[in-house]
Amino acid sequence: MQSFYLKLLGTGSPKPNKERSGPAQVVMIDNTPVLVDCGEGTTRQLLNSNINPIEVENVIFTHLHSDHVFGYSHFLLGGWSLGRKKLTIVGPKGLKAFHEKVLDMFKDDIDYRVSTLGISEEGLLDVNIIELPSVGGEVPLSDLDVDITYTPVIHNVETFGFRFQKGNQSIVISGDTAPVNSLIELAKDADILIQDAAIVSSVFNNKSSDPNILRIWDILTKEHCTPQQAGEIAQEAGVKCVVLTHLLPNTDEEEVYQEASEHFNGKVIVGQDLMEITIDN
Ligand SMILES: [Zn+2]
Ligand SMILES: [Zn+2]
Repeated sequence: MQSFYLKLLGTGSPKPNKERSGPAQVVMIDNTPVLVDCGEGTTRQLLNSNINPIEVENVIFTHLHSDHVFGYSHFLLGGWSLGRKKLTIVGPKGLKAFHEKVLDMFKDDIDYRVSTLGISEEGLLDVNIIELPSVGGEVPLSDLDVDITYTPVIHNVETFGFRFQKGNQSIVISGDTAPVNSLIELAKDADILIQDAAIVSSVFNNKSSDPNILRIWDILTKEHCTPQQAGEIAQEAGVKCVVLTHLLPNTDEEEVYQEASEHFNGKVIVGQDLMEITIDN
């Protein structure tokens, strides 16, 4: 078994999808899981991946859009009630306020569990919160035997892409983004790139003459990638393997695969929930 690989937990998007949970993935580093994003269903998908939520002591958020945080309250309270004593969360500015809102929203529930059930507050009220500077740089998670760097990408709120580097092996997660040079640089020669490929022509019917559809397509092209753009980014960055994710309901997987493959010489994987992605030697 490799000591550095990735598990996809949720490969979906904001739209409810019976086949895909909300965006979330785990980077495994010497059996230590680092969760990146926490979409709807994350805690259940951890269990389905044979990862005990207690063991997840580090969570990184690419950004704070609803689809990437819907599962956080369950992960936070559920993992704590199972016995997790330590948690660090990392993400853009606004993370602390978001975390505190969750605690506030469930204050009565938490009070009940602490005072009546006798669960220690440890691991819930002492969460270590790291808000990253906008400019990019290093992620200060020094307990892990991996270097994590990040860069701002292009979305409609502050969003970061992350690179995990362990020795000569690397895994990059794009975050939600339109094509941008900072991502290509971040992903340079990476083994694996987990890439937003949300906007698929046939799903959005972008050949339509309906002005409202065209207007929405136009907005989304400034915030997400098409499978073609995902392929182009992978090609330019020179990665070995691109994994397409953030997929909408009714996405034609063959279309997504073909479109990305036409623009990328490496390995293309259309992401599926619970897929394990290992680094090819
Ligand atoms: Zn998203
Ligand atoms: Zn987003």
